[in-house]
Amino acid sequence: MCGDSMRLEPVEQISRIAGTLQNSTRHVLEWRCPDCDYFEEVDGQIEGLPQELESWLKKK
Ligand SMILES: [Zn+2]
Repeated sequence: MCGDSMRLEPVEQISRIAGTLQNSTRHVLEWRCPDCDYFEEVDGQIEGLPQELESWLKKK
């Protein structure tokens, strides 16, 4: 079971906006397992999130 060793990682998701040449960037957090390739997008609020991560998430 990976749950205990999962690490919170900030991830920048870049996707093309349909029909344009522009990209949109999304800042999300993912739980990542350092031992295998498992990852999971964080859904909703996280308690005790550092302020810098909080503002990074809101940055576009
Ligand atoms: Zn794992």
